[in-house]
Amino acid sequence: MRNNRLFNLSRWRLASYYAGVMGLILGLCGLAVYEMTAQDHWRSLDQELTSLAGTLHDGLEPLLQQPGQLEPSVRHILPNLCIGPQACPRPPQRIHILNATQQPGYYVRFLNLNGQLLATAGENPPGLAFERETTRQQPLTDQRGNRYHQVSLQLKTATGQPWGYLKVGRSLVEYDHHLHSIQAFLVWGLPTMMLVVGGASWWLAGLAMEPVYRSYQQIQQFTADIAHELRTPITAIQATLETTLSAEPSPEEAYSTLQILKRQNYRLTHLIQDLLLLSRMDLQKVNRSQFQACCLNDLVSDLVEEFSGSALAAGVALSSKLDSQEPIWVRGEEEQLYRLVANLINNALHYTPAGGRVQVMLGSDKYQALIQVQDTGIGIAPAEQARIFDRFYRVDTARSRQQGGAGLGLAIAQAIAVKHQGSLTVESELGQGSLFIVKFPLFSIA
Ligand code: ADP
Repeated sequence: MRNNRLFNLSRWRLASYYAGVMGLILGLCGLAVYEMTAQDHWRSLDQELTSLAGTLHDGLEPLLQQPGQLEPSVRHILPNLCIGPQACPRPPQRIHILNATQQPGYYVRFLNLNGQLLATAGENPPGLAFERETTRQQPLTDQRGNRYHQVSLQLKTATGQPWGYLKVGRSLVEYDHHLHSIQAFLVWGLPTMMLVVGGASWWLAGLAMEPVYRSYQQIQQFTADIAHELRTPITAIQATLETTLSAEPSPEEAYSTLQILKRQNYRLTHLIQDLLLLSRMDLQKVNRSQFQACCLNDLVSDLVEEFSGSALAAGVALSSKLDSQEPIWVRGEEEQLYRLVANLINNALHYTPAGGRVQVMLGSDKYQALIQVQDTGIGIAPAEQARIFDRFYRVDTARSRQQGGAGLGLAIAQAIAVKHQGSLTVESELGQGSLFIVKFPLFSIA
């Protein structure tokens, strides 16, 4: 297949379409997984921050007396609080809320109703515009480019007056890091996967095209064989005509020429009929409703009678053996069943030297009818036995052609057997003879 440009091109096309579609599916799946992971992570991060802000809010509000003023008792809840707009000189890495230490990266901000900073706790991201609300799409960014998510709540005094604002935020470094790892996996992993998919596509395309290529080769071989088989009689006709016409032929010469033309014409007609029969069987859908009941006993005895003349001429003893006198019935096209068994008997007579024997046996078991054609002829080597059913295949080409065979007889016989839901097999030993076995499903006539 590699040396055939057309098939190579088709294989490339098939592989690239497959790889392209797989790449698209993988890419979309990768994006979907990335988006779902990012959303999921954000949701849990936001829930955690909201619950922390809620805890602080609920704990702080009963302690607040005057709007915009932080009572010292607030330190019970936030021990690391730096009061005043200036950040603590050395702010602690982790904030403590109600004796629980939070992860690093959190901060708390208190703003009065005018938006002025009153106190801070935890991280102190430089240049963070914490007045703004945040979303997943729009988090806060400090001067170093680190991103933060923040939850903002309004605080009221113990008496219910508006006090100011509480802002609780956390760094998104960990979240971003996680997303970057997934992105890196997708950016590097997808092309690597695509290489693997490309290789697999090429291999699969090869596998898929293999049977097509085999059929293509068979068709090519078949066409070459037909051309070859047609050329032989046509060349013979041409040569005979040219020789005869080159000089004034005598009536005897003209008669002999006509005899040759008749023989070659007969050969051509047979070849074309065989080819037509094979192609009809290939193309036509089997219509079993048109099958009739055929009695194999009649068929075997008719054929043995028909071939007895040829057998006598060839010096071969032709006989039949019926297992029982009960008629054996099958369903099928009678003409084709005759053709099948006739081909087998014809071959047996052709390939059995004078003095040999050919026997046609008919029998049945519970489900099948069995026709066996046995000869004591030249036999078939084991390596050839599988190939003799191929179209135009002949073991001994010269000898077979001499007999007038084009190598289609067994191909036709097998096609007929298959059409009738049967089988045709061979058992043979070189120099000892052959046994061709045909099996058909039985048909019972009630
Ligand atoms: P052909 O027209 O050449 O006989 P077939 O398809 O009938 O073609 O047979 C294919 C080949 O199988 C023959 O060329 C022959 O070599 C071999 N063959 C078929 N029947 C027999 C047989 N009874 N004994 C030995 N060889 C056989």
